[in-house]
Amino acid sequence: MTAPEPQFDDFYRELILDHFRRPRNRGELADPTHRLEGVNPVCGDEIQLDLLIKAGQIDDIAFTGSGCSISQCSASMLTERLKGRSVAEAAKVLSGVRAMLIEGTPPGPDLGDLESLEGVARLPVRVKCALLSWNVLQDGLNSAAGA
Ligand code: ZN
Repeated sequence: MTAPEPQFDDFYRELILDHFRRPRNRGELADPTHRLEGVNPVCGDEIQLDLLIKAGQIDDIAFTGSGCSISQCSASMLTERLKGRSVAEAAKVLSGVRAMLIEGTPPGPDLGDLESLEGVARLPVRVKCALLSWNVLQDGLNSAAGA
């Protein structure tokens, strides 16, 4: 039995497919300050996230991975949204994404394209797919903060 597919508006469906077909910032950084990995065993998704963090700023970011379209497009959107942004802003976007996906909170303007993932919140089994790259990011932010 395959996981149910979320229902998206046409506009959001196109945006998600676009990130899946043409992932942004896909690859590895030559000299990352942080390299983290995560898996979602429920779906078989894998994400590796490379971060180059200097002076509280995400100077560069890249991901590789495999898995379903939700997991991969969420990672692509993450990198696009956070490249060049401060660690503080990344933490804020991260909590907004979690609130949207876990609690069903309507997405705020700071989520950008990520609001297209709102439909996933109605399908708990797919929330793990969408959150995978964000959980990996959390590990990165923690270690950047010296935790
Ligand atoms: Zn998945």
